[in-house]
Amino acid sequence: MDYPQIITQIATQVNPLFGQGKVADYIPELGKVPPEQFGFCLHLNDGQVFAHGHSGVKFSIQSISKVFTLSLAFQLMGEDLWKRVGVEPSGTAFNSLMQLEYEKGIPRNPLINAGALVVTDILVSAFQDPKAEILRYLRLLTGNDCIQFNASVAQSERNSGYRNYALGYFLKSFGNLHNDVEQVLDVYFHQCAVEMTCVELAAAMQLFSHHGVEPHSGQRLLTMSQTKRLNAVMQTCGFYDEAGEFTFAVGLPGKSGVGGGIAALLPGQYSLAVWSPELNKKGNSVLGMKALELFTTLTGRSVF
Ligand code: GLU
Repeated sequence: MDYPQIITQIATQVNPLFGQGKVADYIPELGKVPPEQFGFCLHLNDGQVFAHGHSGVKFSIQSISKVFTLSLAFQLMGEDLWKRVGVEPSGTAFNSLMQLEYEKGIPRNPLINAGALVVTDILVSAFQDPKAEILRYLRLLTGNDCIQFNASVAQSERNSGYRNYALGYFLKSFGNLHNDVEQVLDVYFHQCAVEMTCVELAAAMQLFSHHGVEPHSGQRLLTMSQTKRLNAVMQTCGFYDEAGEFTFAVGLPGKSGVGGGIAALLPGQYSLAVWSPELNKKGNSVLGMKALELFTTLTGRSVF
């Protein structure tokens, strides 16, 4: 397969889509990112890496961080994790409060904000310094000791995070947040404010395409079964209320973020990351989604 040629073709085909979406600005700091950027990185399980465009530019991973904190919490809690958070697609906005009331404080899934706050709460209970632990984990997965939070983005999230505060206190009222709400939110805002490049993100997703083995060290972090569950949650819940559309168009498990990044994988074969800041109305990167649809179509390699 001529991956460089395929990726170049994809970049050419998505280029006319610039201008169709909008950079997220509800977190003011994210609104400052120049829109016309497109990065793509394919990381094959045999170690080959094919990077294109702005694949070396750091961006805010935002909700993609939820997959990593989830995988860490799953290692700590095992199946008990699912007593505190469900595994059904939500069909509502990622920061919706409504469902939480109906479902008595058990979030639909760990990839919407309410569920992610429960996951972060688990890390706050488990670690003395959860922020340092998240960085340690991401540095291990990427093989890069420079992974950091962007302090201005974290502060901007805090200043504009009214809904996340509401979700945090709501969860607390149901007894599904065990720590101080402010402390959990501080960690949550920081995990969302982690910056990575497409190359780093694709490397970090190798854990899931390698069935739970971290390929740099050969360390097994998740069992086969745990990895299956996490990939299944990504497939059904990873793309806001567009998870069906993403599965239909692309056919890979993954996770998107409002920074414009999308990380995805094909178990046993590859992981990839694409980034372009302009989002569609559902919050997914316009060029990113199209690029991934073209990738699985042109290569014939998707879950389906
Ligand atoms: N930090 C963002 C929020 O909580 C994450 C949103 C996202 O990427 O889905 O609103």
